[in-house]
Amino acid sequence: MRDIRKKIAKRLTGIVLAVSVAVAIVYFGAAESIENVIQTSVIKQPYEPPVIVLDAGHGGMDGGCSSMNGVPEKGINLNILLHLRQLLRMCGYTVEVTRDTDRSIHDEGIEGIANQKSSDMDNRLALFNQYENAICLSIHQNQFTDPSYSGAQMFYSNQVKGSSALAQSIQDAFVSQIQPENKREIKLCGKELFLCYFSENPTVMVECGFLSNPEEAALLETEEYQQKVAFTIFSGLQQYLATLV
Ligand SMILES: [Zn+2]
Repeated sequence: MRDIRKKIAKRLTGIVLAVSVAVAIVYFGAAESIENVIQTSVIKQPYEPPVIVLDAGHGGMDGGCSSMNGVPEKGINLNILLHLRQLLRMCGYTVEVTRDTDRSIHDEGIEGIANQKSSDMDNRLALFNQYENAICLSIHQNQFTDPSYSGAQMFYSNQVKGSSALAQSIQDAFVSQIQPENKREIKLCGKELFLCYFSENPTVMVECGFLSNPEEAALLETEEYQQKVAFTIFSGLQQYLATLV
């Protein structure tokens, strides 16, 4: 639907331009005037700030991965989201969130954990795709069998233009602000990252750190570090948005 609208808009711009040039030829005849008409016909659209859609991964019966102390990522994701929402709101952004409490957002009346999980993910995706002009971030914590792995890593899909630049901008912010040793590269995802892949807006899955790394998990469990992570994501997002103005 959006593609068709974009095509129509493009075609209309072309028609308007062609008509303007034709009018200039009839009335003015001079090449110089035609040039002026072309310049004034392509009016830059005023910048419209996007809606920021934030997702705190997991929630309710789904805790996500856990640290060695048994702290599940769902609460860490939520705390980071709440700090990030506050920062964005202070800057005047409209912010939507998939959840702001510890819960699954599946439809009422759905029975069975698998069905509830599927409904929950569908509802998160529906919010990601609710706005034509949105930027979506899904916040998670990582885990790996080797406990030495650490550091934030951004995942993006190539289905929507802008996702890779947004991922790079947030990755750069992590390196410059809190993880100077982080050598991780942003990673292209496939359909296995459902929200990332099927989102129709620029979207990044932010893996803030590894709960399987005891030192990083200890940091991620503190409110002070959660605030730092939120501010880092905020900075990366701001850097990206500055390129759109
Ligand atoms: Zn997760």
